[in-house]
Amino acid sequence: MSLKIDSLLIHGGTDGDITTGAVNVPVYQTSTYKQDGLGENRGWEYSRTGNPTRDALEKLIADLEEGQYGFAFASGLAAINTVLSLFKAGDKLIVSDNIYGGTFRILDNVFKNFNITYEIVNTSDLQSIEAAIDDSVKAVYVESPANPLLTITDIGAVAEIAHKHNKLLIVDNTFLTPYLQRPLTLGADIVIHSGTKYLGGHSDTVSGLAVVKDKALADRLYYLQNAIGGVLAPWDSFLIIRGIKTLGVRMDRHVSNAGKIAEWLENSGYVSRVYYPGLKSDPGYEVQKKQASGAGAMISFVLKEKYDYRKFFKSLKLITLAESLGGVESLVCHPASMTHAAISAEIRKKVGIVDELIRFSVGIEDAEDLINDLKQAIEASEK
Ligand SMILES: *Cc1c(COP(=O)(O)O)cnc(C)c1O
Repeated sequence: MSLKIDSLLIHGGTDGDITTGAVNVPVYQTSTYKQDGLGENRGWEYSRTGNPTRDALEKLIADLEEGQYGFAFASGLAAINTVLSLFKAGDKLIVSDNIYGGTFRILDNVFKNFNITYEIVNTSDLQSIEAAIDDSVKAVYVESPANPLLTITDIGAVAEIAHKHNKLLIVDNTFLTPYLQRPLTLGADIVIHSGTKYLGGHSDTVSGLAVVKDKALADRLYYLQNAIGGVLAPWDSFLIIRGIKTLGVRMDRHVSNAGKIAEWLENSGYVSRVYYPGLKSDPGYEVQKKQASGAGAMISFVLKEKYDYRKFFKSLKLITLAESLGGVESLVCHPASMTHAAISAEIRKKVGIVDELIRFSVGIEDAEDLINDLKQAIEASEK
């Protein structure tokens, strides 16, 4: 029976324990497995290579993304590290001009040392992707919405360009999750997640995931996952499965809160700019609407000059100043000094990550309480 996403969140993948009937997949807290004789195992050998709890999560995320093969890693960056290890010296990647700071850091300070290079392109502009493609380019790497300016890239259109030139399209789907957007169905070859964010959803577990459709690509990734070893632990796999069960109801509230807050901010007179792809005024609005079923719950905004952003952060009472996003609680951060500090001041300025930029991960609290907290903190920050 083919299930819709709300049912898949709860029953996708393995759906309970085959051996005992337990409705939850148990935490198989084991590093190794008894072999019945030389070369005779029961499908499991060693937990870096495979673990039933991790396997259940891997099957679940593959179902949710409408892919075939899922992989779970110790963090989003461990997933990214493994995916980038598909490439070799001399290869180049085209990368969205605003991406997660850690993704930029691993490209710039780790893979570049192995002569796997990158070129930053505004991927919302299809012509500039086309212009940047040459023989050395092996993949296009996109976030949509991108971090932290929520820039929207037309995933289907980029897939077409990438495939026309025989390149892979990799999409980091952390901000929308498969509940709102499924990049593999739009033509992407690899989807990446930081499961730390909405999938886990409770700011209590660091994890990463990758999903593909193609068997040959899956074989390479599986080889690399085992060879590099950055796998997700059984207990953490259990927590992400548990988080995913409520993803749908959480996302509905996240998105409805974010819509109300973005609209309030836009009309408040406190800000000079709001970035939220769910606003009709946002340049990515139409494309976002076409390729996703919701705009997510990340909002960025720039306070007007008469407000002191340092004082604003200090004055918040309900909303917490912290790294990360996607948890049930509302978090704000200062990209220039926190999440995107790894990017040089020059590049930050060029792409629009100004010092006054505030990134807001809208939680599932009462929207009016959140608006009241923003209002009092902004007013308290007047210079
Ligand atoms: C957090 C994040 C990552 C990195 O994930 P970790 O779990 O922190 O390693 C990658 N991409 C995006 C979009 C993120 O928000």
